[in-house]
Amino acid sequence: MNTLSDALRQNVPNSAQTPARAPAPAPALTPISATLNVAADFPILARPVHGRRLAYLDNGATTQKPEAVIDAEARFYRESNANIHRGVHWLSQHATDLYEAARGTVQRFINAPRADEIVFTRGTTEAINLVAYSWGRAELRPGDEILITTMEHHSNIVPWQLLCDHTGAVLKVVPISDAGELDLAAFDALLTLRTRLVAITHISNALGTIIPVAALTASAHAVGAIVLVDGAQAVAHQKVDVQALGCDFYAFSGHKLYGPTGIGVLWGRAELLAAMPPWQGGGDMIRTVSFERTTYADAPQRFEAGTPNIAGTIGLAAAIDYVSAIGIERIAAHEHALLVHATAALAAIPGIRLIGTAAHKAGILSFMVESIHPHDLGTILDAEGVAIRAGHHCAMPLMTRFGIPGTARASLAMYNDETDIAALVAAIYKAQDLFGTRRPAA
Ligand code: PLP
Repeated sequence: MNTLSDALRQNVPNSAQTPARAPAPAPALTPISATLNVAADFPILARPVHGRRLAYLDNGATTQKPEAVIDAEARFYRESNANIHRGVHWLSQHATDLYEAARGTVQRFINAPRADEIVFTRGTTEAINLVAYSWGRAELRPGDEILITTMEHHSNIVPWQLLCDHTGAVLKVVPISDAGELDLAAFDALLTLRTRLVAITHISNALGTIIPVAALTASAHAVGAIVLVDGAQAVAHQKVDVQALGCDFYAFSGHKLYGPTGIGVLWGRAELLAAMPPWQGGGDMIRTVSFERTTYADAPQRFEAGTPNIAGTIGLAAAIDYVSAIGIERIAAHEHALLVHATAALAAIPGIRLIGTAAHKAGILSFMVESIHPHDLGTILDAEGVAIRAGHHCAMPLMTRFGIPGTARASLAMYNDETDIAALVAAIYKAQDLFGTRRPAA
């Protein structure tokens, strides 16, 4: 295998090994690009990168922000900024109203029964850690079991490992098939009366697999286990209705939903949240404090110690309003059409191997290109203006399952279209030219 530096130093196709071939024709344009056409709402997409048109395909890591979100945050700081829940002055009450209104916006977006079931966190990671620390330490005993899957993000693995270390509970892992689908028979076999918690992703960040959460939740409840869903990759891409899913906790991050970084959500059933002890102490989460005894506020304030990311909640609400105005079903349909198009375009490249070919998939394409390390591929694509993710995607056990160090991952969002996929395909051919590994199409 040539190294990246060899190839870049030469900066010419290694045509000694592979005869040059006319560039592959761009995939035929279908009307997918016409179905949403929202890229103009996202100012960053207009900036060139390395002198090229930006094809931003790293949406699984974070999405870009529409003008409406950027404006909402800026407007908050210009017109409404004050600390919340503390001031008697007008601005503080105004900021508190906006913050609590954002809670209502989230509630309606995921169809939660009550606004006070919405806890603002820094993101998915903090939401899962909150449950592990608060619910987990109070509830779990040695020998209790937590069931996760092979395809979890580290955020839905490590908090449970820490919890098991602390409580003596045991972590069990449901295997997956070569296509990246959950082994449902193994799930049923591993689910026992010892299972206290099932913690599952809604959509795999590395494979795109959509998990049948409602069915798994029904099985988990039948043995008395509760269910936490990691919705980081789901909320921006399909309708999430926590009541229809039937789960007990749902976690997601604002920044993957076209909102700001540093803000996320834990939804939890009111009765569970009511029984959970605080996990961080400080201002805003108490009812009374004395040196002898402190009493705590009800949920959600009990779990929101200290000054929260107030502007972040305003930005998140603006993102939800933006997504809702377009319609999450339209977004899902657009991304599905683009996924089908992109899958065919990538599969047609000789030497490419798609990792994650489940029947039910969201817009995530993980792949390996023969003889090119994913990091080298990512660097070459970047030089072409194509932003993808390369590596283990915070899912190292999943990479071990497939026996690979990592993948290249293109992940779609509502503003992507065939032009982005054509740029991706052309850049992969360019990488193969640089490495001298390009082969004629079969
Ligand atoms: N879970 C999944 C499936 C993810 O894809 C991610 C982020 O990539 C996370 C959890 C963690 O999200 P955050 O870093 O926003 O807390």
